[in-house]
Amino acid sequence: MTNQSRFFYFKTMINKIEHIGIAVKNLEETEKMYKALFGKEAYKTEVVESEGVKTLFFQLGESKIELLEATNADSPIAKFLDKKGEGIHHIAYDVDDIEKEIERLKEEDFELIHQSPKLGADNKLIAFLHPKSTKGVLVELCQEKQS
Ligand code: ZN
Repeated sequence: MTNQSRFFYFKTMINKIEHIGIAVKNLEETEKMYKALFGKEAYKTEVVESEGVKTLFFQLGESKIELLEATNADSPIAKFLDKKGEGIHHIAYDVDDIEKEIERLKEEDFELIHQSPKLGADNKLIAFLHPKSTKGVLVELCQEKQS
């Protein structure tokens, strides 16, 4: 590997697990449970209207737990809960350059739900990979939005 290609991989790699998304029926009730489990408060709650979700975030070291409640019956979270019940909904990976990462993963034959980044919760640009191409696990790519 040349220095140049090493640089390329460095600039396009997946850095770490940014958060784990958990689908819940009742955000308020679940918040109490996680508050007791973690011994700390959530740091943020946010509605993402375009996704039909209300979210709540807990910070744990450099990782986060995102709780997701549906805001309407057509929400992807409502559909997930109908099909699978409460539980882990997605794993989100932090990337440096989400557009480059989308292009790279398309070339690796992954199926993208979002062909270009969209605005997600917690000031992030996000894109989801279809669980069909990731062995049943919904994968979210996210990049801190430069403000
Ligand atoms: Zn997420």
